[in-house]
Amino acid sequence: MAKLLEGKPLAEAIKEKIRLDVAGMSKKPVLASVIVGDNAGAASYAKSQAKVAESLGIVYQLHALGNDTTEVTLVDFIKKLNNDKDVNGIIVQMPLPAQIDAKKISQLIAPEKDVEGMHPANMGKIVFEKSKVLPCTPAAVVELLNSTGVDLYGKEVVVVGHSEIVGKPVALLLLDKFATVTVCHIGTSKAGKLEEHVKKAEVLIVAVGRAGLIKGDWVKDGAIVIDVGINRVADKIVGDVEFEVAEKKASYITPVPGGVGPLTVTMLMRNLVELAK
Ligand code: NDP
Repeated sequence: MAKLLEGKPLAEAIKEKIRLDVAGMSKKPVLASVIVGDNAGAASYAKSQAKVAESLGIVYQLHALGNDTTEVTLVDFIKKLNNDKDVNGIIVQMPLPAQIDAKKISQLIAPEKDVEGMHPANMGKIVFEKSKVLPCTPAAVVELLNSTGVDLYGKEVVVVGHSEIVGKPVALLLLDKFATVTVCHIGTSKAGKLEEHVKKAEVLIVAVGRAGLIKGDWVKDGAIVIDVGINRVADKIVGDVEFEVAEKKASYITPVPGGVGPLTVTMLMRNLVELAK
């Protein structure tokens, strides 16, 4: 039976280090959070960020703009925050109203204030050099893997999903640990080869958003399974991996919810403190 890789205790330990870092700083770090319109999901995400920030001694500046904000207004607003010496990091809550190009906005945030680690310049640094900030969900996956104490050198790692925010950066970060990384995506599934690849994985990371995509009996005996997926099925949140069967085969497995999710906001705050230093 697999050991559960829970995000909360790990997040608490990392928060303790962040608290110490913040306490040692001459000025409290400031995170500017921009929310546009009245999306309930964005509001709830901002609320939980504010709570975590407060618990760490970080100043959380919430800037709420109206539903009818134009792209030009938002661009000007971000530029002001980029130039504001008191602001160490900026996050724009998603989703944005339809009249605004979300990709354009996230790329406008100055790389040295990019707490989400999603600016192309910071993404590029993952390839070329050590980056100060890492995209939050991939960073959470790496922390969970580190917490097992298992050396990834030469391990067969299979990443399912190749999105810009999860799959691709995760694959790059694990290449840096000298794992042999295979990235599967829709093409792999369409070619009927997903099962074959998953069965070889000593470390399996799944970030697709399809409940039950990975059958529990595909999981290799002793594998480490990190399930990033979030799916609502009959009022329950589940991941992409058939948990009940997979946990009997894996050595470690993340629960959904409770695995990757609780770590992501902590990663955001860690990025902020790195940028503020
Ligand atoms: P995207 O939709 O951006 O990416 C999904 C990826 O899965 C794509 O690369 C897609 O390939 C691939 N894919 C789709 N269908 C299949 C299939 N049948 N077989 C193999 N690959 C497939 O999603 P995200 O990366 O943003 O998120 C993935 C999941 O992780 C979601 O459930 C999301 O809610 C969750 N998530 C959880 C977070 C957390 O904090 N726990 C944070 C971020 C995301 P292609 O593009 O080629 O179709």
